[in-house]
Amino acid sequence: MPDPNGFLRYDRRLPARRPVPVRIMDWREVYPQAGEELIREQATRCMDCGIPFCHDGCPLGNRIPDWNDLVRTGNWDAAVESLHATNNFPEFTGRLCPAPCEAACVLGLGGQQPVTIKQVEVEIADAAVARGGLRPRPVPAPTGRSVAVVGSGPAGLAAAQQLARAGHNVTVYERDDALGGLLRYGIPDFKLEKRHIDRRLAQLSAEGVRFRTGVNVGVDVTAEELRAEHDAVLLACGALQGRDTPETPGRALRGVHQAMAHLVAANRAVAAAAAGQPSVAAAGDGRQPPAVLPDGTPIDAAGKHVVIIGGGDTAADCLGVAHRQGAAGVHQLDLYPEPPAGRDAARDPWPTWPWILRNYPAHEEGGERVFAVAVQEFVDDGTGQVTAVRIAEVTVEKREGRRTVTVLPGSERELPADLVLLAIGFDGTEEQPLLAQLGVVRNGRGAVDARPNWQTDVDGVFVAGDMHRGASLIVWAIAEGRAAAAAIHAYLGGVGELPAPVDPAQQPLAAR
Ligand SMILES: Cc1cc2nc3c(=O)[nH]c(=O)nc-3n(C[C@H](O)[C@H](O)[C@H](O)COP(=O)(O)OP(=O)(O)OC[C@H]3O[C@@H](n4cnc5c(N)ncnc54)[C@H](O)[C@@H]3O)c2cc1C
Ligand code: SF4
Repeated sequence: MPDPNGFLRYDRRLPARRPVPVRIMDWREVYPQAGEELIREQATRCMDCGIPFCHDGCPLGNRIPDWNDLVRTGNWDAAVESLHATNNFPEFTGRLCPAPCEAACVLGLGGQQPVTIKQVEVEIADAAVARGGLRPRPVPAPTGRSVAVVGSGPAGLAAAQQLARAGHNVTVYERDDALGGLLRYGIPDFKLEKRHIDRRLAQLSAEGVRFRTGVNVGVDVTAEELRAEHDAVLLACGALQGRDTPETPGRALRGVHQAMAHLVAANRAVAAAAAGQPSVAAAGDGRQPPAVLPDGTPIDAAGKHVVIIGGGDTAADCLGVAHRQGAAGVHQLDLYPEPPAGRDAARDPWPTWPWILRNYPAHEEGGERVFAVAVQEFVDDGTGQVTAVRIAEVTVEKREGRRTVTVLPGSERELPADLVLLAIGFDGTEEQPLLAQLGVVRNGRGAVDARPNWQTDVDGVFVAGDMHRGASLIVWAIAEGRAAAAAIHAYLGGVGELPAPVDPAQQPLAAR
């Protein structure tokens, strides 16, 4: 029985973030470990609601009130088990999820303070490591059936683990030199240190999952070869087609890049530094590793005026990277007006995901956010290098699904810019040889449709994660990976059923 007065006795509290002047000198995670006392106190705030609305926010079906109570009573081993029953990688979601469960928590009603669900989750995930490591699960007798998973992001890895634990032979193909998808080279270390991925990969490996990195399926291995070798194929290739703005004058200037080019280069530089040193922390002695594109072109923010275009996760990650690289100044531009600080119940009633101003840790590290502006031109310094961004104030209206942007006359001004990063979203999964070879087509959103059993229009070829949903969240990628694994298991005639937390048509809890 949980403490019915816990939320009356304790306010919501999170561990203090590492001080800004210290953390921007290195690439280590922003949050330190919370400490058992704080986390047990916070878990005590959970009311174990008769109808736990937090469940409606989480596509994984995490048993939130159960593990809150187990943490409250200090029953860590059971909490670890309960958490892993629904989530293969709580150390990723606990660190990175924007926590739709917290937006749906009953304690958040009327603008109050929800349970710190995500913080409890990450502490349980870390307790699993501290209390004996991520032990591999015993694998049942082999089924003799074989599955190829293309893509090693959270969707592919979750599916691979589920299928291996059901006794299937699983091979994960990844075109990059390292595994993890966007978690590896997209998301910076200050949000997720890569040791968490490596630890989980060791567990998957011990459970029998085979990994083939540096293999671009469709180029290095044809779809025909893949299908000949495996009984089923899961496509989990992500939604990595960056949206661009080719019509904006000056787009072709030097110094104007896709945000992902910047993030991948920065993450690779950090990985290289870390490989030569005992820990990522050692890279942060004031000398940030220089980031370069694959052709050697520098894309480092050191000493530069940086303009980031976009308001989401990717933009905030570029901001944090720019600070750590030693940018001279950073502006982050958003087309939309500044959202309200709290939920507008008329627009997004509880328990839906609210449109509010999201302040990431990167925002408290510096930089200036500019709302309701659109770029009119990237300005040339006369040598083909960008030197400024000309912006104008705008209003944005949405009518019948179409967006109309109106420029306010006379509002134009320039911001200094040596490095411009486009973080304006993704246009779905990339068009690549693999799709044509398989006969799989992208829909109007650039994603790949799935039937109710997660199969594409091609027999034996399944799809999950961002490739199916469009650019989304890690929690959805894991949920879809688990559900697709269940469908593949059934397709292969596996014994029993695997958990399938979502179906392909499922949408996040939203008012619009
Ligand atoms: C910068 C950034 C920050 C983000 N931050 C967050 C966050 O804080 N919280 C959150 O919840 N979500 C975040 N996201 C979203 C999250 O990372 C994605 O939703 C998630 O990674 C999708 O997982 P996935 O497995 O579907 O695909 P991905 O992680 O994109 O992995 C797909 C993999 O497939 C590989 N691949 C593609 N084609 C082939 C091929 N032909 N052969 C072999 N391999 C192939 C790719 O190389 C890639 O490794 C962020 C996204 C970005 C871009
Ligand atoms: S909605 Fe909030 S208070 Fe209720 S069970 Fe879920 S986490 Fe606990």
